[in-house]
Amino acid sequence: STSPKTAPTTPNTQNELPPATASGSRMNATFVTLARNSDLWEISRSIRQVEDRFNRKFNYDWVFLNDDDFDDEFVKVTTSLVSGKTKYGKIPTEHWSFPDFIDQDKAAAVREEMKEKKIIYGDSISYRHMCRYESGFFFRHPLMLDYEWYWRVEPSIELFCDINYDTFKFMADNKKKYSFVLSLYEYVETIPTLWDAVKNFTATHPEHVVKDNSMGFLSDDNGESYNHCHFWSNFEIGNLDWLRSKAYVDYFESLDHSGGFFYERWGDAPVHSIAAALMLQKDEIHFFNDIAYYHVPFTHCPTGQQTRLDLKCHCNPKDNFDWNGYSCTSRFYEVNGMTKPEGYEKEQ
Ligand code: GDP
Ligand code: MN
Repeated sequence: STSPKTAPTTPNTQNELPPATASGSRMNATFVTLARNSDLWEISRSIRQVEDRFNRKFNYDWVFLNDDDFDDEFVKVTTSLVSGKTKYGKIPTEHWSFPDFIDQDKAAAVREEMKEKKIIYGDSISYRHMCRYESGFFFRHPLMLDYEWYWRVEPSIELFCDINYDTFKFMADNKKKYSFVLSLYEYVETIPTLWDAVKNFTATHPEHVVKDNSMGFLSDDNGESYNHCHFWSNFEIGNLDWLRSKAYVDYFESLDHSGGFFYERWGDAPVHSIAAALMLQKDEIHFFNDIAYYHVPFTHCPTGQQTRLDLKCHCNPKDNFDWNGYSCTSRFYEVNGMTKPEGYEKEQ
């Protein structure tokens, strides 16, 4: 009788983590992801791309936050993929529930109405908690208090170019506090009274509005009305101390009390963007042209062929959203008196 054959063992066994190849010190920074256990395989795809394109060279930490407990599989798989330390936090119930000043019946009636109007996530309670959490609480989670800088990563994103420098250090060295790769117009049905709430806040707290702000990015009539431009917050590299500042926390609390996270469906993107545009100086907001990024349904592919070749990009420049009429990035360049990247007309 012949004994069963065993397959030859390949040398592809577990290795030590490759050493971080970038020399020098590290910033006090972390990646941060809000996710459910069911997001495991989609966040794994994102992590792998962030590691391949950037973090294997730097080994920054990664904080995962969830309104539920992370399960063993989620922890094991994500720990194996991240080259830095991973930390897992549960969100306290107070930060993921209806505040007592919210009228539950009124909120339920709005969800019903938005469902009929087929407004995206309009009937969802959890999506509203998520938007409110990203707007006002993630930076105050105990695990985040150790850090000064964050990079937000969502499930199912893609990075298309190498990032060969420390983006956190870049932010610090260039006095940047907030950054983006994609900007666009918000669905007005989700934020009909947001601008009124903002005006109410700026009237009560004029001391929090800085002089050299980006009102021109938000408004075409000097602040009378909102043009719905915002930075897309599923990607953010930003400063946590700014979000934890009295100015930002006063802003969030003022907006929160007006009820729009539940009586409408305010997204964290316009909430963060308006804060950055009014409470940071113009030149504290950075557009990362060299970070090529996709989150359904939009792509930011760097303008300029030489940049794309140098950074080994694999995005199709035709997919770039920046110079499209629905993007607000042209406006960002104009407000800041910046020259658009060479070749942008050809990629319009
Ligand atoms: P979209 O990008 O606006 O379509 O919204 P996503 O579904 O991507 O949600 C935004 C972020 O919040 C992602 O990182 C999700 O993983 C996370 N998220 C959304 N809903 C929940 C939830 O109910 N619980 C938890 N823990 N995370 C959520
Ligand atoms: Mn998303």
